Amino acid sequence: MLLSNWNNYPRIEAKLEDLRTEGQALQMLEMNRYCIPRGLGRSYGDCSMNRFVISTPKFCRFISMDSNRGILECEAGASLEHILRVIIPRGWFLPVTPGTSHVTLGGAIASDVHGKNHHLHGAFGSHVLDLRLLTPRGDILNCSRDKDHDIFEAVCGGMGLLGLILSARIRLVPLESVFIRQKTLPAKDLDELMGFFQEYQAGTYSVAWMDCLQKGKKLGRGLFMLGEHCRAGEAPHAELLPPATGGARLPFTPPCRALTNPGIKAFNSLYYTLNSRRKGRSVTDLKSFFYPLDGLRDWNQLYGPQGFLQYQFVLPRCSSGAGLQKILQHIHSFGLHPYLAVLKLLGPGQGPLSFPMPGYTLALDFPIRAGLFSLLNTLDRVVLNLGGRIYLAKDARMQKDMLWQGYPRIKEFLNLKKRLDPENKLSSLQSRRLGICQNPY
Ligand SMILES: Cc1cc2nc3c(=O)[nH]c(=O)nc-3n(C[C@H](O)[C@H](O)[C@H](O)COP(=O)(O)OP(=O)(O)OC[C@H]3O[C@@H](n4cnc5c(N)ncnc54)[C@H](O)[C@@H]3O)c2cc1C
Repeated sequence: MLLSNWNNYPRIEAKLEDLRTEGQALQMLEMNRYCIPRGLGRSYGDCSMNRFVISTPKFCRFISMDSNRGILECEAGASLEHILRVIIPRGWFLPVTPGTSHVTLGGAIASDVHGKNHHLHGAFGSHVLDLRLLTPRGDILNCSRDKDHDIFEAVCGGMGLLGLILSARIRLVPLESVFIRQKTLPAKDLDELMGFFQEYQAGTYSVAWMDCLQKGKKLGRGLFMLGEHCRAGEAPHAELLPPATGGARLPFTPPCRALTNPGIKAFNSLYYTLNSRRKGRSVTDLKSFFYPLDGLRDWNQLYGPQGFLQYQFVLPRCSSGAGLQKILQHIHSFGLHPYLAVLKLLGPGQGPLSFPMPGYTLALDFPIRAGLFSLLNTLDRVVLNLGGRIYLAKDARMQKDMLWQGYPRIKEFLNLKKRLDPENKLSSLQSRRLGICQNPY
C-alpha cells in the first residue's frame, strides 16, 4: 500500500502487517530483515515508515486497571482515545496528553510526547512505571527506572529503534470533572506573549496560538491560553463522561491545496480579534481544550495531495526571545508563512533522544511548496546556533548534523542500539536519513 504519516509526506510503497498477539511480534521480527513499528501514524514525517511496517493498533488489550491507585496497564496499540473512555468514568485522566487523542500508547512512549503541562509535569515517559520491550534479538525486557534504567530512558523518545514496546503501566492523575477553567489573554507581540508564559508558569496547562502573518510591531502577536481542571463543585455537571468519539469528515477531498495565504491571513485576523474581545475566563470541555482538531477527522487533507510539513523546534530559555524573532523574520523574508503556529513552554527532558529541554517550542505547519526546504534549512542553522533542536516525531527532512549536534546524548543511544539491535533490524526512513542506521532500504 501507499503509506504516509499525518502530513502526507513522504509517501512510499510499504507492506503493513497487523500485530494482534505477542507471538506474532516475534515472528514478524524474525521474518523481516528490516522493519519499524507503527502506531496510528500521527507523527509528521517518516519515523514510522519502512518497506515493512509492524502495525500495532489491533494489539490493544487492556491488561489491568487499579482504580484505587490510578494505575493502568495495556498493550502498546491501545489509543489514548480508547484509554480515556475507560479511565474518565473511573475518575482518572492522562498525566500528559498531546494535541490529539488518536495516538497509541506505544507511539506516545516512543516519541516521549509532551503536552501543555510539560513545564510542570514532564513528558509522557515520566509517568510510565514500567514497560515490556521485545528486542530484535527476541528477548523480552521488563524495564523501569529501577531495572535496565538506561534502556527504559532511551526507549522513551527512542522512536521505535531499540525494540517493540509490547505493553506499559502508566500512572494516571485523579479527575474530578470533565471541564477546564480556561483563561485567554491576547498578546500584542512576541514579548507580551512570552511574558504571559513567564507570569503564569505555575499554571497547569499553558499554550499559545501565534499569528505568524503579522510583521513589525505586531510580530509574534497571539493568544495565550491557560487551563486548570475544574473541581467537582465548579463544573456545569458532575458526570464523568469521556469526550465524544469521532468527528466530522471533510465532505470532499480537496483536489489541490484548499488553504491559501490570503484566506489564512483573514482567518488569523478574525480569530485574533474575536478572541481578544472574548478575553477572560470561560469553562470548556476536555475535547475542546486538549483535542480541538480531533473534531474534524481529516483536516490534514486541506493541505492537498502534496502534503505539508510541521517544523517543531525548541530553543533554550535564555536564547528563546531573540531566536523566535529571528525565525519569524526569516519566515517573512522568504514569504512562506505557516498556516498554524503553536508555542509552548517546556521543562527538562529525560532520555537521550527525548525532544524537550527547558525553553520554548514552536510548532509551525507549512504547506509544501517551492522554497520551503530552503527556508527550513535556514531555520535549522538558527536553531542549531542557539543550542536548540528539532522534534524527531515532526521531522521529514532534516540532515544528520541536526541530530548529532542537537541531541548531544546521541552516542549513548547508539551504544544501546548496538547492544540491543546489532543488525539494525529496526530502522525507519528517518533513522537512515539521520545516520542512526546504515542498512539499505
Ligand atoms: C493533531 C496532532 C497534534 C499533536 N500534538 C502533539 C503534542 O502536543 N505533543 C507531542 O509531543 N506530539 C504531538 N503530536 C505528535 C504525536 O503525538 C506523535 O507523533 C505520536 O508519537 C504519534 O503516535 P502514533 O501512535 O500515531 O505513532 P506513529 O506516528 O505511528 O509512530 C511514532 C513513533 O513511535 C514508534 N512506535 C509506535 N508504536 C511503537 C511500539 N509499540 N513500540 C516501539 N515504537 C513504536 C514508531 O516507530 C515511530 O518512531 C501531534 C500529532 C497530531 C496529528
